[in-house]
Amino acid sequence: MHEYSIAWQIMKKVFEECEFHGFKKVKKLNLRVGEMTMLDPEQLKFALQSISQGTIAEKMKITIKVVPLRIKCGEGHEVPLGKMQPSLTSNTSIPCPICGKPTKMSPLQECVIEEMDAE
Ligand SMILES: [Zn+2]
Repeated sequence: MHEYSIAWQIMKKVFEECEFHGFKKVKKLNLRVGEMTMLDPEQLKFALQSISQGTIAEKMKITIKVVPLRIKCGEGHEVPLGKMQPSLTSNTSIPCPICGKPTKMSPLQECVIEEMDAE
């Protein structure tokens, strides 16, 4: 399951961070997930919870925010991509819907830790 491998990567970062700072308990974890990643936030949350069972992150509160992907052209127009191109990959270029110039997509970030609260 895709969510599980992402969850493992996230938890690995969380534990590394805790070890580095000497944290003993993770209280809160806020994640940001790109809209086009096809990740199911509920399944991801479930995967994170099951991985953190019996660890210092066991009781953390998980918040997952889904962010829309945006495209930006050379003229500075920034447009949310929405659901119109579900099969796009990060190296596809589509013309700006406002001026027709080539656009760049904002980085296709699958899942990043936005905030973590630990002590
Ligand atoms: Zn434009």
